[in-house]
Amino acid sequence: MTCLAGHIVGSNCAFRGVLTFADGRIAAAREDPDVTPDFGDAWIVPGFVDIHTHGVGPHTYPSEEAVAGGSEWLVRFGVTSFYPTVASIPPEGYEAFLRTVARLAGRTGGARIAGAHLEGPFINPVRKGGMDEHALRPPDADVVDRLIAAAHGEPFIITLSPELPGALPAIRRFSGTGNIVALGHSNASTEILRSAVDAGARIVTHLHNVFLRPGEIEADSVVRDALSFVYGEARLWASVVGDLRHVSADWLRRDYKGLGPERFVLMSDLMPGAGLPEGEHAMPDGRRYVTSGGVGRLADTGVMAGSVVTLNRMVMNLMSAAGIGFPEASHAASRNAAMAVGIGERAGALQPGMPADAAVIDRTGNCLATYVGGRAVHRA
Ligand SMILES: [Zn+2]
Repeated sequence: MTCLAGHIVGSNCAFRGVLTFADGRIAAAREDPDVTPDFGDAWIVPGFVDIHTHGVGPHTYPSEEAVAGGSEWLVRFGVTSFYPTVASIPPEGYEAFLRTVARLAGRTGGARIAGAHLEGPFINPVRKGGMDEHALRPPDADVVDRLIAAAHGEPFIITLSPELPGALPAIRRFSGTGNIVALGHSNASTEILRSAVDAGARIVTHLHNVFLRPGEIEADSVVRDALSFVYGEARLWASVVGDLRHVSADWLRRDYKGLGPERFVLMSDLMPGAGLPEGEHAMPDGRRYVTSGGVGRLADTGVMAGSVVTLNRMVMNLMSAAGIGFPEASHAASRNAAMAVGIGERAGALQPGMPADAAVIDRTGNCLATYVGGRAVHRA
């Protein structure tokens, strides 16, 4: 049995007290205003859930070694569950990746490998962003079924463009088989978004990046309406890259207000090279990109291709941008992320009975310690 005393971020309120871990789970969360904290004034939070990360440190998915290595790296940033993400590869590559992740499910040692996130291949080429156009295609029932079969029943996330022909049946099929459909890389109108949500889609991937772009929101009422729909649709969560480069502090604040404290999700879109000195790195498809000033850009075109800011830092960014406290901001990377991808019963809350996945974050955002299943997997 392990006890962890300090400033605990609960689901609805923060309190000073003691968490007790037993058999990998939280046995008790007890208030005690007189307890001596183990980590000074640092916060004890539910471990972060990174729903969209392409790599970290020297690791670039989809290889099995990289996913296992990513699991060990991410705990340095308070992440206890993650969805390794791949983009811009042929359909067979996505199938192989799903098989890899299914094989690794249940692996222990670092952050839990909660499932795969496929960013593609059903992406609208006019909204490709940093993706390789040759790897994109409209949904096809046969490919959809092959992806579902390759996952061996391990739920995955798939980001797709709902305006593509065949997208709605694909959304129904993916969500009907227990997977999470995310909408992104899109120019869909409100009408299409509503049909997609009716069909089972439940989250928006990087809200303002190659989707509802701030410049278009100002200029185009169709895009403005689509954003209002996302803000107002209670069945939909929206994820935002909180690195202050993909999205400005002003938009972080507006989105947090628009979506409310429960449907705003921080996503890292983390790239290999995160956590390493800035410089040139290779994408999974071999293209080169450069990390500089906290962002990754394709070496040849300069297009922004992902972030190198980790979730613990994004929580601090959200806190100052939205003018909210640390506990509220941290929910965007833990509770809200877990709820959005359907794992809220086993991640994102420090409640008795839940897996003992927790992180200790100091007042400047540094991760001092991380626990997965009650075991210390990181100590700064
Ligand atoms: Zn991505």
